[in-house]
Amino acid sequence: MILKDKTGEGKLGDNKILEVKEICKSFHQPQSGILAVLNRVSFELGAGETTAVVGQSGSGKTTLLSLIAGLDNPDSGQVVLAGEDLCTMKENKLARYRAQKIGIVFQQFHLMPHLSARENISLPLEILKQDQIQRRTDAMLEKVGLGDRQHHLPGQLSGGECQRVAIARALIIKPALLLADEPTGNLDMETGEKVSKLLFDLVAGENKTLILVTHNLDLANRCNSILTLDRGRLV
Ligand code: ADP
Ligand code: MG
Repeated sequence: MILKDKTGEGKLGDNKILEVKEICKSFHQPQSGILAVLNRVSFELGAGETTAVVGQSGSGKTTLLSLIAGLDNPDSGQVVLAGEDLCTMKENKLARYRAQKIGIVFQQFHLMPHLSARENISLPLEILKQDQIQRRTDAMLEKVGLGDRQHHLPGQLSGGECQRVAIARALIIKPALLLADEPTGNLDMETGEKVSKLLFDLVAGENKTLILVTHNLDLANRCNSILTLDRGRLV
């Protein structure tokens, strides 16, 4: 369900990359019992489309992203990425599929602290045993402007630089889908602006599909559509 399509192009249909169908997710909480976080959430995304997910803190945005990433299972419903239902995939296949098709950028960067910027960026290529790792890592370092910081550890980098490493790591496998969970939430305004510009430039340059969770309405407005979560439902 696309609630706001500023392009008005009706791009969905033949080039559909993601279908989220009627997903429900609850958690058991010690004090309050069962908490229904997502209630029959459905929407579709076309390849190359960008969408923002907004909603109050606790409205289920991160939960939705982790279900789309196949990091957790919904109680019911389907997440179909490039024609395959992630929810019924066996764990081995899912892990590989996730590594090949989905890039994720988190608010807290989640870099490997003992690896350099360069090693963090090339890690997905190493894991997937890809070709031309040196060359592709060089090119990606160049794209995110970290050539002169490549041998630094995350602890020796600024927040903005760490997030650029995380963006590079997420994009180096050329994922079909990029998920970003409040990617500028941990950065000051000026740095956040630079990092989000980089993110949008890279996404547009490679015609990537993006789902961006953000509190920042300026950022949300840069996406083709905006999904608003309220008490477990898209409104
Ligand atoms: P948002 O990202 O929109 O702030 P979340 O998706 O992180 O919201 O969380 C939605 C609700 O689900 C919150 O009330 C949170 O406490 C609860 N929640 C999230 N993950 C778990 C979990 N693993 N166990 C129990 N409750 C959870
Ligand atoms: Mg969250």
